[in-house]
Amino acid sequence: MQREQVLLEKAQKRLEEIHKIPALKKGNSITKALRRNGISRRDFMKWAGAMTAMLSLPASFVPLTAKAAEVADRLPVIWLHMAECTGCSESLLRSDGPGIDSLIFDYISLEYHETLMAASGFQAEHNLEAAIEKYKGRYVLMVEGGIPTGLEGQYLTIGAHGKTGWQGTVEASEHAAAIFAIGTCSSFGGIQAANPNPTATKPLSQVINKPVINVPGCPPSEKNIVGNVIHFILFGTLPSLDAFNRPKWAYGLRIHDLCERRGHFDAGEFVQAFGDDGAKDSYCLYKMGCKGPYTFNNCSKLRFNSHTSWPIQAGHGCIGCSEPNFWDTMGPFEEPMANKLYNTPFFGGADRTADNIGITLLGAAAIGIAAHAILTNIKKDNQ
Ligand code: SF4
Ligand code: SF4
Repeated sequence: MQREQVLLEKAQKRLEEIHKIPALKKGNSITKALRRNGISRRDFMKWAGAMTAMLSLPASFVPLTAKAAEVADRLPVIWLHMAECTGCSESLLRSDGPGIDSLIFDYISLEYHETLMAASGFQAEHNLEAAIEKYKGRYVLMVEGGIPTGLEGQYLTIGAHGKTGWQGTVEASEHAAAIFAIGTCSSFGGIQAANPNPTATKPLSQVINKPVINVPGCPPSEKNIVGNVIHFILFGTLPSLDAFNRPKWAYGLRIHDLCERRGHFDAGEFVQAFGDDGAKDSYCLYKMGCKGPYTFNNCSKLRFNSHTSWPIQAGHGCIGCSEPNFWDTMGPFEEPMANKLYNTPFFGGADRTADNIGITLLGAAAIGIAAHAILTNIKKDNQ
């Protein structure tokens, strides 16, 4: 309780300080933004409640989460695109209606985002340089995409002067207040870095020398992106991170821990072929290659497509997209890991147990223990 009070006061103080900074967009306010999009204050407060719970904060933080969203227009954000498909931006912006998360992203002061801004060429370059200079030490840097380093970065050049993405990233990171790697490509290299990685693409954390918070996923949920922004506004510090620098509030549990098909796994009821009776009865997809037991993410809670569904609900296994090197370690995507036990960071008694299932309350527990034990060891090695 005492700790909660200390945290609460710390966040309150920080929000008051941020509130004193003039809004970067004139004539705007969250109230106006909500009204423009037909969202009631009541729904906004419900969103604040859900966001607070998602960030693993106590209910006493709900008004502060709402306040953090309200002062988000004091927060300059610079968003860079590297080697990627822009799916992470799409995840955030292409909802079928104006969700509160995309609205908040619209409401923050997005100073530079190549997909969204009108400027191009020299003007765009100038805007980026001007934003970095003007908001030195205050802006949040979000980088989408892996960073090619082959040919001294020449595989990816941007702008009228043909600056490499690598150089642009390093420059933009120097004066950032917080840095987020958005999506698996930026967090871990993604498909560009898959074997044989011809462009020598690297994750953001390997090309700059500042702390990076990884927000992986292909794409990550918009809630995981906005949740990080809200956390930063509230506390201004790094959230609690796992062994791969992912915020624990979003990536603390495995897909398998939160899966609606988990009861079937425990009962040994598996889909044996797509379209079979087990598939129709929503049995577990483990034998169809589901990598949920090895993957840390909150997809089943947040869901995609306006929160209507997610891959496992739709009938395909998780392919492990939020894990490092998943293109190389998790494939083939429609086969269980069993054959490659010793090539994965998880080694894998897990598959063996599950392949022999049938009777497996114990087996399920073994998977949990195996994956967690291995991650714990990775974490220890990294400390
Ligand atoms: S193996 Fe996949 S489908 Fe089966 S319970 Fe785990 S996460 Fe769900
Ligand atoms: S279910 Fe698995 S593959 Fe699909 S988005 Fe979530 S973590 Fe990625």
